Amino acid sequence: MIVGTVKEIKNHEYRVGLTPESVHELTAHGHRVLVESGAGEGVGASDALYKKAGAEIAATAADIFATADMIVKVKEPQSQERALLRPGQILYTYLHLAPDPDQARDLIASGATCIAYETVTDAHGGLPLLKPMSQVAGRMAIQAGATALEKAHGGRGVLLGGVPGVLPAKVAVIGGGVVGFNAAQMAAGLGADVTILDRSPEVLEKLGMYFEARAKTRFSNRANLAECVADADLVIGAVLIPGAAAPKLVTAAMLKTMKKGAVLVDVAIDQGGCFETSHATTHADPTYIIDGIVHYCVANMPGAVARTSTYALNNVTLPHALRIAELGWKDALRGDAHLRAGLNIWDGKVTYQAVAQDLGLPY
Ligand code: NAD
Repeated sequence: MIVGTVKEIKNHEYRVGLTPESVHELTAHGHRVLVESGAGEGVGASDALYKKAGAEIAATAADIFATADMIVKVKEPQSQERALLRPGQILYTYLHLAPDPDQARDLIASGATCIAYETVTDAHGGLPLLKPMSQVAGRMAIQAGATALEKAHGGRGVLLGGVPGVLPAKVAVIGGGVVGFNAAQMAAGLGADVTILDRSPEVLEKLGMYFEARAKTRFSNRANLAECVADADLVIGAVLIPGAAAPKLVTAAMLKTMKKGAVLVDVAIDQGGCFETSHATTHADPTYIIDGIVHYCVANMPGAVARTSTYALNNVTLPHALRIAELGWKDALRGDAHLRAGLNIWDGKVTYQAVAQDLGLPY
């Protein structure tokens, strides 16, 4: 198969669909790989590295869309990319179609076969191609929170791990799923005093067994939340109710109970945020202060660590890409119900029920 990857053109997107290492795997399996010149610049992967891995460098994205059987990307195709898609061509990338009717309309019209990373499933009921980005965001939340706690950023001037003779910071992590677990791991690793709140007894039990004495777990109810938030130097918002907006667990009134200069990091901001006072911010201007409480609410946290994020993403997307290239998309999907769950658009039709429902389109 001819597989192509292009330079991402969405604003401030530095990740790339295929790393040189992934290209090497594909070419070693006998596939031809086309890479747009400069596609890997944002993650330090030069054209020379791609060539060494066996890729052919193409001058423009148009050259790649005209030739490749499968396009492997990171972000949803932008309108100028959608115009280049051909009937029968495979598009393998994040799509997030439900809130994006313009994209859905163009992909339907293109006749391309569109497989969305975010709806591919695994045997444990998880979303394995979303998981690495939650791992990145969870780990980054502690870095971001630690920086925001510094005086120069409006924080209360507390070092997460303390020093010998001085107590460490108190970190409350609300939601103990993928983001929360990774945040807690980082905070505990730095020596902070960590409490994880979740409302699922199974999640709490798993966290308790993993962390033992290195982090406390607490059932997430109003009273426990209020107590932990009032006591915390850093609060990480990491809840998810699948398919719904995040619940507002920390109210505006609760800010008044917090210590001045404490920090809220709302990782759930991409689902509307779990603090009432959250609004989305950017990497260029990530924080703002309300009632003396520093808020960090960047909606695309993994973009800041594009290199780590690209490698983490390739680790999970490449096995499917290899199988599609090997077998063709029909046989690859026929033999794998989890990959089949990724099929969002085929032959001019929406093939994913929730997307069709949200967009009011036939399914
Ligand atoms: P997850 O499903 O693995 O975990 C969510 C957890 O929240 C679950 O354990 C659930 O039991 C818990 N929960 C639900 N309601 C709760 C409540 N009232 N109190 C306490 N816990 C509650 O989800 P995840 O992968 O960890 O993602 C968490 C959020 O982070 C999502 O909104 C996701 O979209 C977001 N996210 C944001 C970024 C970013 O860049 N900002 C990146 C990745 C993920």
